[in-house]
Amino acid sequence: MSRVTETTLEIDLQALAHNYHYLRSKIKPETKFMAVVKAYAYGSDAQAIALCLQNMDVDYFAVAYVNEGVALRNAGITKPILVLHPQKVHFRTLIEHSLEPSIYSKAILTGFVSVAQEMGIHHYPVHLKFNTGLNRLGFEANELREISKIITNQKAITVRAVMSHLAATEDLEETEFTLTQLQRFEVICKEVDALFKPAPLKHVLNTSGIINYPQAQYDMVRSGIGLYGYGNDSDVDNELKPIGTLKTIIAQKHFIKAGETVGYNRKYKSDKETITATLPLGHADGIGREYGHGKTYVSINGHKAPIIGNVCMDMIMVDVTGIECEEGDEVIIFGKGLPASEFSETANTISYELLTGLSQRISRVIKN
Ligand SMILES: *Cc1c(COP(=O)(O)O)cnc(C)c1O
Repeated sequence: MSRVTETTLEIDLQALAHNYHYLRSKIKPETKFMAVVKAYAYGSDAQAIALCLQNMDVDYFAVAYVNEGVALRNAGITKPILVLHPQKVHFRTLIEHSLEPSIYSKAILTGFVSVAQEMGIHHYPVHLKFNTGLNRLGFEANELREISKIITNQKAITVRAVMSHLAATEDLEETEFTLTQLQRFEVICKEVDALFKPAPLKHVLNTSGIINYPQAQYDMVRSGIGLYGYGNDSDVDNELKPIGTLKTIIAQKHFIKAGETVGYNRKYKSDKETITATLPLGHADGIGREYGHGKTYVSINGHKAPIIGNVCMDMIMVDVTGIECEEGDEVIIFGKGLPASEFSETANTISYELLTGLSQRISRVIKN
């Protein structure tokens, strides 16, 4: 393994390929695969990840906002890109970069149609998003006839796909609710096929949906977290490989006497002689204050070192008493061998939040 010389997120493209092939193996060969690369590809590097996936012939990409799609186009992504939550103010930019909007309300629909008409566009592909129970974004099923009238009476846009998003695919205690959402989606799909020709694509499953509800894969699935190596389930995690490993180095060691304190507000008090190591990353890098006070470990030369005291903005201190280590030695925060899912659990949060919270000042290094 390579040694780092500063705080670095190592991104392993071989692990990405492994995860992609694993997820693909769970769906039919003809089902399209949409790679969700929003939020810097879950805190990694959207351009590198998307280019790698494009080379592996992924069918579609998804981002949350228009600027993320523009960055992908500028990086050479030519495959279709869905924008999950486009903002009205960016509709023109979206069209100029051939991005496909998720249309989820009448205001968004009519707003988008008028921008496309102003630009003299015909048959611009859009995805209609329906609310089936998440209650976040989406048309209600009973709006379908009205929106189909609006769409039939113009030529600027065409319905490329119909979609919905499930609330609890990873939670098997919510299976009944998920099946209800899927039934609602099925009803919408049938009506849509009667109203729009050619029949639009249908897509509803996220990563845990692919694993737990493969019968609902329709024409396309949308996967994010699984590509990055996490499956919201320990059995699935065992099949996947974390693509990102966050590493840093020991900046300085301190020899603390019994009764001394460490860090801001003196929140760590030593009851014996203690050796600490200061590491150059902090809450400004995405390691929040919840990770302090001995709850969370990092790995140094194969040993667990707890994060002690208050996490600072740019640094954390760990207890390395009894661990053989020197200034400059490598430290693994999470990733290979220390999954982000377990690390994040110590702060009562999830891998999604930990990964997407990693700040842009951490250098990213692409491997393999
Ligand atoms: C983020 C997102 C996904 C991806 O979900 P994962 O659980 O990361 O696979 C899929 N669909 C929508 C609408 C999303 O917002």
